[in-house]
Amino acid sequence: MKTIKTKNPYTQKTIKEYQLITDDALNDKLKQGEAQFQHWKSVSIKKRTKLLTRVAELLIERKESYAKLMAEEMGKPITQGIAEIEKCAWVCDFYAKNAGDFLADQLIETDASESFISYDPLGMILAVMPWNYPFWQVMRFAAPTLTAGNVAVLKHASSVAGCAVELQKLFEDAGYPKGCFQTLLVDHNQIEDIISNPIIKAVTLTGSEVAGRKIAEIAGKNLKKTVLELGGNNACIVLNDANLDEHIETITWARMQNNGQSCIAAKRFLVQSEIYDEFLERFKSEIENYNVGNPTSEDAKITCMASESLAEEVEEQVKKSMAKGATLFYGNERQTAYYQPTIITDVKKGMPLFDEEVFGPVAAIIKVETKDEAYQLSSDSKLGLGAMIFTEDVEDAKHRISEIEDGAFFINEMVKSDPRLPFGGTKASGYGRELSKEGIMEFVNKKTVYLK
Ligand code: NAP
Repeated sequence: MKTIKTKNPYTQKTIKEYQLITDDALNDKLKQGEAQFQHWKSVSIKKRTKLLTRVAELLIERKESYAKLMAEEMGKPITQGIAEIEKCAWVCDFYAKNAGDFLADQLIETDASESFISYDPLGMILAVMPWNYPFWQVMRFAAPTLTAGNVAVLKHASSVAGCAVELQKLFEDAGYPKGCFQTLLVDHNQIEDIISNPIIKAVTLTGSEVAGRKIAEIAGKNLKKTVLELGGNNACIVLNDANLDEHIETITWARMQNNGQSCIAAKRFLVQSEIYDEFLERFKSEIENYNVGNPTSEDAKITCMASESLAEEVEEQVKKSMAKGATLFYGNERQTAYYQPTIITDVKKGMPLFDEEVFGPVAAIIKVETKDEAYQLSSDSKLGLGAMIFTEDVEDAKHRISEIEDGAFFINEMVKSDPRLPFGGTKASGYGRELSKEGIMEFVNKKTVYLK
């Protein structure tokens, strides 16, 4: 029988071995979910949101133990893990409060005596999820999707199998009927059969561009809707008039949060020439002062990446960029999965640090002369998740919103997700939106009803 092993990236020790489910067991789970859907879709929105509120309560009760599990499985600093779980509770509370309004019939005046849109669930939705925010990525999909009356199955990243198991338990402990939310411990080879099974009605994937293309191809062949939340190569524009006293901490954290492993992290810093030297020095003094340590230590801000091989990939991208003329300004030490917060300057188009997503704590710095150059380079990427700018001329930034091709533009703030605002990308960062009203609308049948 096939198994997956989870491994603590900090200690390099195996945590646990999990058996993958057989194809027969998989089919049983899909059938159980399908049968549950027939009941769950007619459960009142009041009852569904009550259960979601219970999930929020359980998340808060269990935040320490979930954060510890994430620390062990993927090295997340424990305080950032607790913050992640609190955010999961927030997204549950948000949909518990608002889903009723979002899903209410929408009357539209026409020549009919009555016409409106009703929002019906689709059925079973498959979620394929990444390891970097093991609870948040799942909850921001599950909270709206289940509340809309769908049921869900989760194929989580193998490295966080323990979190995947806990997520199913969370929903069951909150009182969701069995089959509403199920974790599937499966490997890549089983995905095609799952997606082509008629029980699955749609697929959402958060992960890399490579995985997104693969899953979307299979779903496309089977004519099933997909939502794709893929990688990012976000620009962070810092203009001459930026207030570094106020923003340097945010700017730096925009890159280094979660040990640099965030899709919406600032990855390419486009810094105007007059502020450039000061910016580098202040960025460096911020990251020099980060506490480095064990993921379970409350003092640690930086710990280790989620695996040694991920750290090696980042090292390779840095090495190749330096071979093409990029310069090491600070850092770049690696010990197994630990990667020191690093600053690389003289980065240019054609180097991996500019062209590719770098999923680790490495800031790629590009000096620019003009605002126009900064905006043009910001959108000069195949990815389009988000962009941010730091400037005191907010009016000018607002005039230039249309120059940003990404799914989000943040002015004097780092790109971040918020349950109240839609989240998603353009270009190779994917399509579709999560969170807000937009998110709950992704997996519903927007049914037109017309009464003559
Ligand atoms: P990944 O390697 O693409 O994996 C994501 C998920 O897809 C995992 O569950 C993985 O399973 C599965 N998967 C990958 N290839 C597959 C295949 N051929 N068939 C079936 N399943 C497949 O990404 P990751 O390393 O976990 O996460 C990092 C990436 O996610 C980054 O690119 C990051 O930017 C992106 N991300 C995007 C967002 C967003 O909201 N846009 C948020 C977070 C992360 P296994 O673990 O078993 O391989």
